[in-house]
This record gives sequence, C-alpha cells and structure tokens, in this order.
Amino acid sequence: MQLNSINPKNNKIIKSWDIHNDNEIEAIISKSYSAFQKWKDTDFTFRLECIKKISKLLKDKKKEFGTLMANEMGKPVKQGIGEIEKCAWLCDYYYENSEIFLKPVHVKTNYYKSYITFQPIGIILGVMPWNFPFWQVFRFAIPSLVVGNGVILKHASNVQGCAYAIEDCFKDAGYYENIFKNLCIPSIKVDNVINNDKISAVTLTGSTPAGISVAKKAGENLKKTVLELGGSDPYLIFEDANIDIAVSACIDGRILNAGQSCIAAKRLIITKNNEEDFIEKLKSQLSLKIMGDPIDDVDIGPMVSNDSRKEVHEQVMNTIEAGATLHLGGYIPDIEGAYYPITLISGVTPGMPGFDEEIFGPVFCVISANDNNHAITLANKTEFGLGAAIFTKDIKYGEMIAKNQIQSGACFINDFVKSDPRLPFGGVKMSGYGRELSSYGLMEFVNIKTVVVNDL
Ligand code: NAP
Repeated sequence: MQLNSINPKNNKIIKSWDIHNDNEIEAIISKSYSAFQKWKDTDFTFRLECIKKISKLLKDKKKEFGTLMANEMGKPVKQGIGEIEKCAWLCDYYYENSEIFLKPVHVKTNYYKSYITFQPIGIILGVMPWNFPFWQVFRFAIPSLVVGNGVILKHASNVQGCAYAIEDCFKDAGYYENIFKNLCIPSIKVDNVINNDKISAVTLTGSTPAGISVAKKAGENLKKTVLELGGSDPYLIFEDANIDIAVSACIDGRILNAGQSCIAAKRLIITKNNEEDFIEKLKSQLSLKIMGDPIDDVDIGPMVSNDSRKEVHEQVMNTIEAGATLHLGGYIPDIEGAYYPITLISGVTPGMPGFDEEIFGPVFCVISANDNNHAITLANKTEFGLGAAIFTKDIKYGEMIAKNQIQSGACFINDFVKSDPRLPFGGVKMSGYGRELSSYGLMEFVNIKTVVVNDL
C-alpha cells in the first residue's frame, strides 16, 4: 500500500510513498528508543547547537520548502516561505531561551536542599495536519527535542514529501540518527503506535474527532496528550470599532492558506449600526484578491483537495438555504484543480452550518448582533474555544471582555489571531487542551521532578 501526494492545482499524483508495515513500525520505534537513550544524556549545549544549525538550514532552503508545500497542499509559495521563516524564528527563540526555561528551580523548605528539575520523558508521537506542514511539526518537535525527548512523526497522509524533507532537515542539522523519525502510515495505524510501550506521550493537531480518538487510546495507556483541535474563532466588531481596521484584520485572518487554518476568522460578528458599511467594505476589498496557481504571486491557491472543496461548498449552500445571503463566490469554478473562490455570506445565525460548524475554506460568514453584549453571547455560542478577536476603540473595555468573558485560549484586540513562538497557543472546550509554544509548550513533555536532599 502507498500514500499519495496529489497536487491540488491539477489533481495529478506527484509521488507515492510506501507505507511502513507493522514490522517496520516496530523497528523504527525501537531504533528511536535506542537513540533517545543516548540523546537524553547529551550535553545540553550540543542540543542547542543542533537548533542553531536547523534554523540556518531552514533559512537556506525556504524557497525549496515553500515550493514543496505549494505542490503538495496548494499553499501559495510566498506564504510557504513565510511559514519556513516562522519555523526558523521558533528555532531561534528556543535556542535563546531553553536554557533559562529548563534551569532548576530551588525552593526554600526545611530540608538541606530542595529543588525542581525538568527531565525528558521519552519518545513523543506527533500526529500532525497538512495545513501548515512545517510549522505544526517544528512547533512541537523543537521543544520536545531540546529537553532530551525523541520524536516520532505521523504526518497527514497527503504531505509525506514534507514529512520526509523535515526528517532530512533534522539529520542534516546534526541531530542523532533516528532521534526524529517519520512513520509513513495512515491514521488507522495510530492506535497501534500509541499502544507501543516505547512511546511515552502523544500530541495531535487536527480535527476534534481525531483528537477524541487519540485521547481515548492514550487514556487507556495512561499516556499524556496535548490536543490542538478545530476552531470557529469569533471576531467581535463592537459598536465603536474602527471599521477599516476590522475589515483588514478579518481579511488577513481568513484569507491565509485559503482559510484552511484552525485560527482563521470564521465568524465575523458585527453590531447592526456598522453592518452595512462593514459588508460593503469587505466585499469591495475581497473582490481585489487574486486566486490562482500557488507558484505565482497570488492571494489564494487551490484548496487541499476536491473532497475538502465539496465539503465547504455544501456548508455554504446549506447556510444559504437556511436563509443567509450570498454576496461573493459560492460556486465551484469550471477550471482544473480544487479551486474555490473567496465567498462572502451575511445573515448567518445559530442553527446554520456557517455558525455551528467549522468551515475550513475561504468563506467569510457575517453575523449580525443587536449590541456588544449580544455579540459576546454569540461569540461564546460554539463548542469551540481556540482564538477570538475584539475590535474597539475602548481598549480598557476590550481587555476586560477579552480576559473575563470570551471562552478561548487567546483573544486579540484590534488585530487578527496569530501564533507566536513567545506566546502560549492552545484551546479550551472542544478545541482541545494543553499548550504549545513559549515556556508553557516546552513544559508539556517533561518530568517535573522534585529533588529533596537531607543533610546528614
Ligand atoms: P485530521 O483529519 O484530523 O488530520 C490530522 C491528523 O490526524 C492527520 O495526520 C490524520 O492522518 C490524523 N488522524 C485523522 N483521524 C485520526 C484518528 N481517528 N486517529 C488518529 N489519527 C487521526 O485534520 P485535517 O483535516 O488534517 O486538519 C484540519 C483540522 O485540524 C481542522 O479542524 C483544524 O482546525 C485543525 N487544526 C488545529 C490546529 C490547532 O493548533 N488547534 C492547527 C491546525 C489545524 P491522515 O492524514 O492519515 O488521515
């Protein structure tokens, strides 16, 4: 059996990859485990040097990797280059800060000495999605490896070219042989890997059903999980908001990666007094955006596959059928490839797919609120809780709402939601648990060990 990489701009197979069979899976995990035994005792400065080298390698190869992503999943090359630069930034951040984060913490007690030390826990399995094929992997792998863990990657079936390219990066940067390994397997094989007693913990970034499945299996084995799942981020545009800033942030927050992002601006909640102005400005700016070959200088490329496009189109059609109004897009173009035009719908209300479900494509759903309080109620009326944004001139009020009233892992004021190596990233509710990035991400897969010394 094989996994296929299919170019979504023409639906042609680029390359097929042999799936690892059960014996090969077992052998890869065993070798990783042996590598981990040595890696955990390596000099810390050596692990830091590897990060430095991989950062340089990423910077040198950003065009090549950007093109690889464009071919495997349709991301415009210029966005792909940005993704690689961001991975390098993450590496630089952990290069500079890991030693500080991992410094033992001394605690004053009645003992001669007592302190907290941070130790590796073993091999971390990362089950990763295709939408940011490099970023998602680097953001869990770099901190996992710097603390002394090993990494096994089970990447999405359709981006095995990226998966193997990442494996090569780690090898070329001087990381020990087998300390970062790609398993070329479909999702059905993940349970067996979690069962393997050489695997210590699992992190999954992907859909909520996939997260639930992995959490169940890991729970049976008492293995720790971090789950970064779906989202339906609300953007609350309050009565006093600067509409031009809100429009531009909503576009930037939705258009990246053709809307296929967990933290995309999925529900735009606008108070009635600004609604007409907002829709008009949004429509006129969206009309200028260019869809086309991801190798060219375009704003959106094709979606990842025809199946994904079909799903998004059905959600759009069902939302319109339920009473929403279509302003832009909303059709399957008569061209080769999985292209879906930027789509704008208004009058979206609870009970419609545009409100209740995560739409994973370039679709702008405008939701009308009577006032600010109603906007807050609508924002929280979702099973998800990943990101959120608030637009207001009253910063104090915005901060108070962001801190105390919005159910999400992050809330940005007067900007769109982005991940940042320096800030923790993750969700609440059905968007998952645990955090990636910053010191909090680094601490997810360590043994926080207490050492107490009694003077004789
Ligand atoms: P997906 O279908 O859940 O796939 C993600 C990964 O999980 C893939 O490697 C997939 O393998 C694997 N997988 C799927 N079902 C599984 C199961 N039952 N058991 C074990 N592994 C399983 O998600 P996707 O379509 O690639 O990505 C889109 C979703 O990811 C969206 O919901 C998006 O919001 C979410 N996401 C969240 C974040 C975050 O940080 N919170 C970031 C990016 C994306 P196969 O490819 O072999 O099926």
